[in-house]
Order: sequence, then C-alpha cells, then structure tokens
Amino acid sequence: MSKFFFNKLFRYLSIFLLFNLNISPAKSSSALAAWSLNSNGVLELRTKSNSKLKAYFQKGGDYFGDRFWIDFPGELKNPRTIKGNGPIKEIRLGKPIQGKTRLVIEFSANTNLKPLYWRLVGLDENRWKIKLFSLPKNSFQKIGEGLVTKSNFNFKDNKKLVNTRNRNYEFLQLPDIKRNKFSVVLDPGHGGPDPGAIGIGGLRESEVVLDVSKRIKNLLSEKGVNVRMTRTNEVDLDLPPRVSLANRIDADIFVSIHANASRGKRRDINGLETFYYSGWRGRLLAKKIQKQILKVSPGSPDRGVRQGRFFVIKNTDMPAVLVEIGFLTGRLDARRLEKSIHRKRIAYAITKGILEYLSKAG
Ligand SMILES: [Zn+2]
Repeated sequence: MSKFFFNKLFRYLSIFLLFNLNISPAKSSSALAAWSLNSNGVLELRTKSNSKLKAYFQKGGDYFGDRFWIDFPGELKNPRTIKGNGPIKEIRLGKPIQGKTRLVIEFSANTNLKPLYWRLVGLDENRWKIKLFSLPKNSFQKIGEGLVTKSNFNFKDNKKLVNTRNRNYEFLQLPDIKRNKFSVVLDPGHGGPDPGAIGIGGLRESEVVLDVSKRIKNLLSEKGVNVRMTRTNEVDLDLPPRVSLANRIDADIFVSIHANASRGKRRDINGLETFYYSGWRGRLLAKKIQKQILKVSPGSPDRGVRQGRFFVIKNTDMPAVLVEIGFLTGRLDARRLEKSIHRKRIAYAITKGILEYLSKAG
C-alpha cells in the first residue's frame, strides 16, 4: 500500500472515527461491551457511553491477509482468538498495551476490500456500525459476543412503546393490580463468569436473561409491584443466595428467567417452556406466563408447563417458576432473542402473566 493511500485513508477514517473525543477513562475495564460481525459484512459494536475509538487498516502481504482493527479505552480481561469463516480468517481480542483493548479482524488472503468506502457510524452514544464487505448471501456466518442492541432501560423507552401504534398494542395492555401490595423476586439465570448457554453468533444466556429481567422489573415497578432482582449486572451468583433472598423478604412469587440450549446445538430445536416445582399456585403462575410468552413467539413450539426439580424453584417458600424463553441454539428463537424488540415483547409477556396471576391468586 502506498504511503499516500494510507494517509488518505487514515484522514478519511479519522473524521468518522474520532468524533467522540470528550471522555476517555484513564484506568478502567474495557469499553467494548459487545460486538457482532453480521453475515451482511456489517460490524456492530456496543461500547461504554462516549468512548473514544480509533480504527486502523493494514493491507495484507505475502504471509498474512488484510487486517482491520479498532482500539478501545480500558483493559481487556481475557484476550482470545475466535476462528472465522468465509472471508474472515480470525478475530482476535487483545490488549496491545496496558489499559487498552484491541479488536482485530483478520481477513483471508485475496479478499477484495474497499477500505476507502468504510465509514464508522455512531448510532447513538454507545452503539456503532461499519460495513466492511459485501458478499453473496449465506457465504459468511455471523460471529459475535454479547448483545449489541442492549437497551438502557429508561422509563421513557417503555412509555414510547406503549404509545406508538404497534401491532402488539392489544397485548401491551397490562392489567392493573393493587399498588404496593405485592413483592416479586426476579432471578436472571447465571451471570459473570458463568454465561449459561452460548447460542448462535455468540449470544450469551446470562446477558439475554438479564436484559429481559430488567425490562420486567421496570414494567412491574410501574404497576406498583415491589421488585427485587437476585442480580443486576454480570456477577457470579450461586443458587442458595438467590433462594434465600426470596425467602428472607417473604416474596409473593419467585420467577427465574433462563434461555435454553440444545445438546449438539441443533438449530432445528426451538421452543418455550415454563417449570414449577409443586402446588397449584406454582402451576397456575407457570400457565399464565407460558400462555403469554407463546403469544409473542409465533411458530416457536409450546414445550409446555412442566414440573421440574431445579434448585431455585424447589427451595423457595413461595410459588416459584423457571421460564425458558427460547433456544439460543435454535435458528428461529436465536434470531428473535438477539433483537431488543423481541426481548421487549417477551418481557411484556412475562409481566402480563405475573400481573394476571397476582390479580387472581394473590
Ligand atoms: Zn439457564
């Protein structure tokens, strides 16, 4: 690559890459929260708010293919290499120097890239996207880690959804119940070093269920329900403290949220199921929730309301259920669960099931 080309490219990228110059935390964890290289060649990123990113391109030589990389503030904890497919040889996450994170996309040799047309677009204060290549359909399988479309859970967001014309409008009408009467413990499964199921495109159960749980918390709180969550971020939490929280505060109900994975990661296995341990109240709560989540997941099989001996529902003193909101390894479910609009719908559905239960059995 000529020096001229590199300079020109760099200046061009700089315009788009360096417009967020205000905050750059000196010493902190990695600003890169999630990334996804989609089958259409678009790289999507989620970062901490107002992070300063720098992007680079290096033309390949005889021994390596073209490389594109982005540096983020904050230090990466666990450097790793992810095998690519199609035009991508591999993706590396590393810390080039102390206090930095680098995401490197290394292409196979002979990939015809057009970096002069690359443009990193800031979608909002913490989301970015850049189109790196175009390919025939189905020639590249998406690679990624985490949720790039995680919401920031503000009330305005929920209000907006309720007020807009939406084909799910009817569904969004949540029943009213007596305010300040009920308490609910929400238990997002797994967390931190335990990601739970890992699905298509690197979708992590712990993140998906935390996102859904936070949305449920907001919705229930608006209805005057006292909500406690067993975890509110990516921390490792054993099962006994999840149970003891619910028993200690004498919650009315306990709802654990999970997502499934099939053995052998079979893409044809999809579906939703809700477990209870014993008693008609647990069973009723499970039925109410299962009915609602199926409504927002058309085509995904009803695996039913079932008895299960999971620790968290077996050892809680109140009616308790464990909801499996879909298979992260299933083609249909995963494609939905990676989208924030679907997680929003699932959250509404579970909330509606909970409110219906509380209004009748409570
Ligand atoms: Zn799970």
